[in-house]
Amino acid sequence: MAPPPLTNFIQTNLQHKQAATATLRRMLEVNNETVALIQEPWIRKGRICGLNNIGGKLLLDTTVINPRTCIYLPKQINAVLMNEFCSRDLTTVRLQSNCASSPEIIIASAYLPGDADIPTVELANLIRHCENKKLELIVSADANAHHRLWGSESSNRRGKTDSPLCRGCLSAEETVAHVILECEGVNTQRAQILKTTRSLREACGDTRRILRFWAELGWLDP
Ligand SMILES: [Zn+2]
Repeated sequence: MAPPPLTNFIQTNLQHKQAATATLRRMLEVNNETVALIQEPWIRKGRICGLNNIGGKLLLDTTVINPRTCIYLPKQINAVLMNEFCSRDLTTVRLQSNCASSPEIIIASAYLPGDADIPTVELANLIRHCENKKLELIVSADANAHHRLWGSESSNRRGKTDSPLCRGCLSAEETVAHVILECEGVNTQRAQILKTTRSLREACGDTRRILRFWAELGWLDP
């Protein structure tokens, strides 16, 4: 039996920008098998602009003004909007498979406002529903988690973690030796500030430099 066709997914926050929308539109016109999970689309007069007449379907909660999420689907994909899990900040779609060996998949585009609890009540309800029904779920979200490590101007509580995994690479325990000597996720900051530090003993000989390195990572913030 032939394997099911591959589908590409893209997650993007358009920041309400016309130019970002035009870039996405061109990409979807060329890649006509791509699903786009979108947050903060370009809006005019309360409606999403710039993503119509590409050939696919734009799904969202059409009862709200100024929607902050939507999902673009190629026309050959069979899908149903799950209205009970749609709102201004959540668009949920059930993808129906033609292939008996492929399960149905639920996909969701979520916007998590900075002043709301995370996950939002509506997203938590969706996750609980999928767990109870044993449904496959893919969530693409703008979680408003800020950290200077990934380019934010500042860090916020959502960008921080109590996990023992290194915040720079998420693949090793965050020990001092790992961050100073090994972590590839902080290569840029290490090269700028620590230069060619070869041992922990050498690094600890210059405490001010270590503090500057940690500050540059944004890990000194309370
Ligand atoms: Zn690391």
